[in-house]
Amino acid sequence: MPRTMRTRHVTKLPDCILCQMRQNVSVPARFDSTINGGSWGFLCDGHMAAAGNMAIACRLSDEPEPEPCLKERRSEIMEAISSGDFDLAEDLIGDGDISEWL
Ligand SMILES: [Zn+2]
Repeated sequence: MPRTMRTRHVTKLPDCILCQMRQNVSVPARFDSTINGGSWGFLCDGHMAAAGNMAIACRLSDEPEPEPCLKERRSEIMEAISSGDFDLAEDLIGDGDISEWL
């Protein structure tokens, strides 16, 4: 079974290094991989298929990171409250009611 590729969240996708080098064009890279088994670089879909290594590559995403799951958020809220940081607790709770989290 193929393992799930790790995803790294970036604010802006870097340019594919091979598109840049070979054709002098800017193409957003969606992978960080070794190139033909050599050094690491950012690769677009096409160059990933041609020269990348799916087994060790990392996927790049400029989508915002998913919300932490509710359980994590709840423990962050409890931690903020127990350390007396009510501003942080309120930020974490947002528009919701604190009783939903206790
Ligand atoms: Zn490319």
